[in-house]
Amino acid sequence: MTKMRSFDLVIIGAGPAGLGLARSLADSALQIAVVEVQSESILADPPEDGRDIALTHTSEKIMADLGMWPLIPEDQVGTIRDAKVIDGRSPFALHFDSKGSSETGYLGRIVPNYLIRKAAYEVAKDQPNLTLLCDSEVVDVKTDMTQGGVTLADGTVLEAALVVAADSRFSQTRRKMGIAASSLDFGRVVIVCEMTHDLPHHDTAFECFHYDQTLAILPMVGNTSSVVVTLPTQRAEAVMNLSGDEFAADIALRFENRLGPMKLVTKRHPYPLVGVLAKQFVGTRFALVGDAAVGMHPVTAHGYNLGLSGAHVLAREILAAVHNGSDIGATNGLKRYEAAHRKVVLPLYHGTNMLVRLFTDTSPPARLLRGAALRLGHLLPPVKKQIVHKLTRIEGHLR
Ligand SMILES: Cc1cc2nc3c(=O)[nH]c(=O)nc-3n(C[C@H](O)[C@H](O)[C@H](O)COP(=O)(O)OP(=O)(O)OC[C@H]3O[C@@H](n4cnc5c(N)ncnc54)[C@H](O)[C@@H]3O)c2cc1C
Repeated sequence: MTKMRSFDLVIIGAGPAGLGLARSLADSALQIAVVEVQSESILADPPEDGRDIALTHTSEKIMADLGMWPLIPEDQVGTIRDAKVIDGRSPFALHFDSKGSSETGYLGRIVPNYLIRKAAYEVAKDQPNLTLLCDSEVVDVKTDMTQGGVTLADGTVLEAALVVAADSRFSQTRRKMGIAASSLDFGRVVIVCEMTHDLPHHDTAFECFHYDQTLAILPMVGNTSSVVVTLPTQRAEAVMNLSGDEFAADIALRFENRLGPMKLVTKRHPYPLVGVLAKQFVGTRFALVGDAAVGMHPVTAHGYNLGLSGAHVLAREILAAVHNGSDIGATNGLKRYEAAHRKVVLPLYHGTNMLVRLFTDTSPPARLLRGAALRLGHLLPPVKKQIVHKLTRIEGHLR
């Protein structure tokens, strides 16, 4: 006989987006299930995955409100005060600095992803209205006008008024719900790691667009930087196979020794680059959050930031429905979430993809355009000011 369990809300995926949404609803009377295929011991002590996440001021504020920020050890939080974009050997560098444009004096923070995942688990684990079902894979999802249902691999069915998928950019439940997604395979791999160096980084992030590969160097604590190398897929294996010393020497050379000799201090982690955008963020009694809604190219560092802010907007709609004594799975509230989140997501998703195409295209017209874009940005302080403002402002509704 099928085992049935009833909740108000079922969230599929205990990644940072799914757990962030659950935590936003901690003070409600809703009964929430979060279903996760991985074991609880992995959520409690996630392995280091090489990703260092650049956070906007809005994300820092949401993480503080959720109780996550104090759980990130201070000595693991990097600060980005300046950012420079460099195009090959062009003399023009686009320079963003926080002076005069931000109350805090920095553009953003940078934190290892495994610490964010750990903090998300820590704040959610003892939440009284949350049932965490680990080692449980969702194999099916169905919803209709009256309720939603999620089937687990062991045959258990979880019923709920609303089902939210936070099961990564390759979301199987998005597919099962018949929601199409456009995906863009960049044919590239990003290799991430941390490196130490002799010279200080002065809290400056660098994005260097070379003709064959892109190199981002992001300031961590002390003389340590997060290194992000993007290169064509066919070259990734050779770079992964370099010895630590060979890799370090190559990066230092490509970075024109701005930080002096460099040393690899973590494993290198490769990630294939695929951007994904769901055609809709909601369905009948169903919503997508985090990478399941939009999986960004990491070059503009928006994925988790968008996951957090989207979950925050959805939580606001759910709490409003609870407050009014109405249905949390009603179409109107879900549509409001979709409209608000898509408005933020679409320009960032398409803008990022355009930037990637412009800066990885080696054709002469693209090189010209790239040079012109950098000069223009350099010469137009209002454009730069707008970008800095976007990074450092805390969204109005969060103040
Ligand atoms: C190299 C790199 C650098 C990045 N840098 C930045 C950055 O600087 N700034 C930024 O904001 N973002 C960055 N990102 C993006 C950020 O890491 C992601 O946006 C974020 O981790 C996504 O979180 P999520 O919870 O949506 O998905 P995930 O972390 O993918 O979590 C999904 C969860 O769902 C579970 N799951 C999947 N299927 C099922 C199922 N059927 N049943 C049960 N559970 C299931 C999985 O086990 C997993 O735990 C970067 C990404 C990469 C790859």
